[in-house]
Amino acid sequence: MMQKATKTLSRYVYNNKLIWSICNEEKLVYITFDDGPDPDVTPKVLEILDSFNVKATFFCLGSKIEKHPNIYNTILAKGHKIGNHGYFHKKGWFLSKKKFVENVEQNHYTNDSGLFRPAYGAIRPCHAAELSKHYKIIMWSLMSKDYSKKMNPDKCYKRLKDKVKPGDIIVFHDTADAKNNCLYSLSKILNYLKTEGYNYGVL
Ligand SMILES: [Zn+2]
Repeated sequence: MMQKATKTLSRYVYNNKLIWSICNEEKLVYITFDDGPDPDVTPKVLEILDSFNVKATFFCLGSKIEKHPNIYNTILAKGHKIGNHGYFHKKGWFLSKKKFVENVEQNHYTNDSGLFRPAYGAIRPCHAAELSKHYKIIMWSLMSKDYSKKMNPDKCYKRLKDKVKPGDIIVFHDTADAKNNCLYSLSKILNYLKTEGYNYGVL
């Protein structure tokens, strides 16, 4: 009940500018990765996605793309989608509209992607109103929590398995901190989704 009220409030405050999930009749889910590219983890993620023939969306940081351009190009070459996650991983609550937008625009590599996800999900209505002129703002409905110190690989997978439903936008992190939880739970959940007859949508 509380969650429903919060969502309704969010729709009103953000004028429907934030996308949390995508209703569909076809048992589609949307696989996304944040905070990369990472020279160690991203190639392993790409291998797992290939083995299940799944296309995903990578919300990349401009500062990381600059450090690892080859990994970024590999993501593109494999036919995955890219989204803008800002240049630095900045928490947006206290940033002025100008500063917030500057950090997004500085990630010029991903400017044409048409997709943006705010770091930590932190975006104010004034930021959203401005960015929605150029981007679909993609939030999520199912967070893997692969980054959490309280998680372990199996717990991470079981949480995803218990909660997943059609239309979900699922978030993983292709980063060193999340590595073990991410790689294990990704490969297990893709296997589970396959046996359950799920397919994958494109954002
Ligand atoms: Zn992030």
